Amino acid sequence: MTIHRREFLRYSFTAAALAVSPFEIAPARPAQQSRRILIIGAGLAGLVAAHELLKGGHQVTVFEGQSRAGGRVYTLRDPFADGLYAEAGAARIPQEHDLTRSYAAEFGLKLVPFQPDQASQYTTEELKRQAGGAMGNAFWSDDTMVDLLSKSGGESPLRRYDKIDGGNDRLPAAFAAKVGDRIRYGASVIRIEQDGQGVRAIIQRGGSRETVSGDFMICAIPFTMLRGIDVSPVFSAVKRKAIEQLNYSAASRVYLQTASRYWVKSGKSGFQMSEQGEFIDATFGQAGDRGIMMLYALGDPARRIDHLKPDLRIQYGRTEAERIYPGMGMSFENGFSWCWDEVPWARGAFATYLPGQMVTLYPAGTQPEGRIYFAGEHLSSWPGWMQGALASGLRAARDVSNRA
Ligand SMILES: Cc1cc2nc3c(=O)[nH]c(=O)nc-3n(C[C@H](O)[C@H](O)[C@H](O)COP(=O)(O)OP(=O)(O)OC[C@H]3O[C@@H](n4cnc5c(N)ncnc54)[C@H](O)[C@@H]3O)c2cc1C
Repeated sequence: MTIHRREFLRYSFTAAALAVSPFEIAPARPAQQSRRILIIGAGLAGLVAAHELLKGGHQVTVFEGQSRAGGRVYTLRDPFADGLYAEAGAARIPQEHDLTRSYAAEFGLKLVPFQPDQASQYTTEELKRQAGGAMGNAFWSDDTMVDLLSKSGGESPLRRYDKIDGGNDRLPAAFAAKVGDRIRYGASVIRIEQDGQGVRAIIQRGGSRETVSGDFMICAIPFTMLRGIDVSPVFSAVKRKAIEQLNYSAASRVYLQTASRYWVKSGKSGFQMSEQGEFIDATFGQAGDRGIMMLYALGDPARRIDHLKPDLRIQYGRTEAERIYPGMGMSFENGFSWCWDEVPWARGAFATYLPGQMVTLYPAGTQPEGRIYFAGEHLSSWPGWMQGALASGLRAARDVSNRA
């Protein structure tokens, strides 16, 4: 655990001080020959690997089970009026996430603040809660992070967040446009095989099956999904243990579209922690009068929402919101919910390493198995962040490229 916290601090320092470019983090030697690389998953990890391997002169084929790229970066637009949008997954980009920012810049995507000034003034209690929840994650046990904050006397640096103007899904969409028709949508990988000569992905598309061969493979899907794939020959015992045991957090969101952003008139920012999670004005910075108040729950509160029927989830969100922002009853127009445990292509929100798992499962999780390499937010120094997915995809692309 100590090693990883130090590693995290090193990255934080480097990123903050130098605004490191992706290529400095993952330098690859020029490829000796062009290789056929199969990539499973068109989330950010798979997409960045494909993008960089193409630049390096390799041939890539990306298999994506869904009909869209982006995975857990998914902007919801249809449920809402007036062109408003809210994020189902990745919402905030911290100041120090240099990789995410570098790629947004490479694709000409504009970042805008996702936080009013006063919302950054979290109390120590709120920071402790965050540290113990989703965003604390991995490098420390909850207690250690809470200890750290306590020892700091509550003088924690303010965290500033941005988002991509128009929706965060514009980032994977930009990658997907570059990778083009090398992404095969609606192609679910159900079995992977390898031998001394190469790798094979067995794909299910509608009612038909197909086998595609390559030289190397990057498996860029969550371990929750890898658990359901046949592997031949079976992975090593330590890899199988990592895949089976890595802990994933539950996350659920309830979206409440309102006729106005009435909370602003009563002097509230629209960003507030509560017992049941976090309230976020998803429409902060978007044009118009209507608003979307989002309740973001993690862990047990998320599972409680997950177990409710859709209309009861909305009712629950309205009741909770009314306590924090009185007036919801009058302003409410429409509701929607999203629970990551029930999404068939994720089956969980993001990796949250339990105490001790970072030491045992992380090294085994990241190591290649023969010709198969692994990527995804869960195998990075930033689990639960887009930055982690990008860093892991770059590492896998570099390692494959160096071997090719
Ligand atoms: C609730 C929530 C809040 C978050 N908040 C933030 C935030 O504020 N800021 C931030 O930076 N990050 C945030 N994140 C994290 C961020 O969204 C993820 O770290 C990142 O998107 C993960 O990318 P990935 O490529 O590792 O995995 P994924 O995005 O899950 O991509 C994997 C892809 O593989 C596909 N797939 C799965 N199985 C198969 C199969 N068998 N065959 C073919 N395809 C398959 C899936 O459909 C998916 O497209 C959040 C995530 C969640 C869920």
